[in-house]
Amino acid sequence: IKKYGHQPCVNIGTAGHVDHGKTTLIQALTGSWTSVHSQELKRGITIRVGYSDAAFYKCKICEDPLGYSTTPKCKNCGKESELSRVVSFVDSPGHESLMANMLSGSALMDGALLLIASNEPVPKPQTKEHLLALQTLGIQQIVIVQNKVDLISYDEAISNQQDITKFVKGTNAAKAPIIPISAQSGLNIDALIGAIESTIKTPERDESKEPIMHVLRSFDVNKPGIKLKNIKGGVIGGSLTQGTLNVGDEIEIKPGIMDEKKKSYEPLLTEITSLGTAAGIVDYVKPGGLVAIGTKLDPAMTRSDSFIGSVIGKPGTLPENSTQIKLEVNLFDSAVGATEDTKVLPIQVGELLRLNIGTAPILGKVSKIKSNSIEVELRRPACIFEGGNVAISRRITDRWRLIGAGILG
Ligand code: GDP
Ligand code: MG
Repeated sequence: IKKYGHQPCVNIGTAGHVDHGKTTLIQALTGSWTSVHSQELKRGITIRVGYSDAAFYKCKICEDPLGYSTTPKCKNCGKESELSRVVSFVDSPGHESLMANMLSGSALMDGALLLIASNEPVPKPQTKEHLLALQTLGIQQIVIVQNKVDLISYDEAISNQQDITKFVKGTNAAKAPIIPISAQSGLNIDALIGAIESTIKTPERDESKEPIMHVLRSFDVNKPGIKLKNIKGGVIGGSLTQGTLNVGDEIEIKPGIMDEKKKSYEPLLTEITSLGTAAGIVDYVKPGGLVAIGTKLDPAMTRSDSFIGSVIGKPGTLPENSTQIKLEVNLFDSAVGATEDTKVLPIQVGELLRLNIGTAPILGKVSKIKSNSIEVELRRPACIFEGGNVAISRRITDRWRLIGAGILG
């Protein structure tokens, strides 16, 4: 693997109920890859963003899917394999209280692995809710992973697979391949990689346009007690949907931060001091998987994902910050995700909704309704792209539940 030129080209998300094996699978797929780069990881910039990247290899000799692996040496015949793709994983939390994070991550997914534990009845609440979320955000390329088959018999596996087929009928996962695996014991991972490689395509993106990066994470990479002269600026992680960014570029971050004097959000200007991807430290990044950018910002500002939901571009090229938005709404019949489904009642003027706009979860109050179109007053500004997908959640009993999809007008 060359150090440069192998930025991950696609973002693959995980979806599925808590404890169905999402994180275990990502570890199984990425373990050997991250250790190769542990030195760079320790140096700082690829930390956390880089940890969930993987390289897929394909043997030139072995038949499909036997030749797929995560190592440059074929697991089947021991001969040298070719690099197939470098991918990023966006590992979703499965817990119901973390739906907002799942939705933020989904905004960057090009495709997804829907994990279903085969030793449990189908579907569990978040299996349903996550699949609905993928549908809401227009994620079509899905591989269903029937996990934990080490815990069941062959007959049980077949009957579970039939239950899965029944469950996904009529959804955007209806045509998805169902791959039985054991993430824990590494069983059938070659078939899974094969299915990913043929199902989840690398999207075409325009590198010649002005860059747009959606932020999923931000960090302070400095160790406590570090000497002032050694402090590194704030690091921001996310994905570009178009354009490229170079070390030394001036960037603008929107909506920016609250200016207490002006009582409004002001965009931030800074400079890119370093760039990192799964391939290590690089000079430029393009659209595709996760990237991390080092900036001249005070690292205290970027601590603990504080920039999640921000948008980065060249100064003066991004849409204005707005707090008034218009949505074309498509409500679901029922809200899923709890033990009982709940009928979705129409949206009311004055009601508070949680909107996931890009990677940003934002609360807003409905100010106007005209048939399927609503206007919402956001609690804080967002950088809005017309035509973008929005996930709409409402508080039902004690938690936010996905009730519909919106398109920004
Ligand atoms: P997540 O909540 O979906 O991320 O689930 P985790 O990856 O954290 O896994 C939950 C539990 O299931 C852990 O104790 C794993 O060790 C276990 N687990 C995951 N995959 C398998 C599998 O293929 N077989 C068995 N027996 N256990 C598994
Ligand atoms: Mg997990």
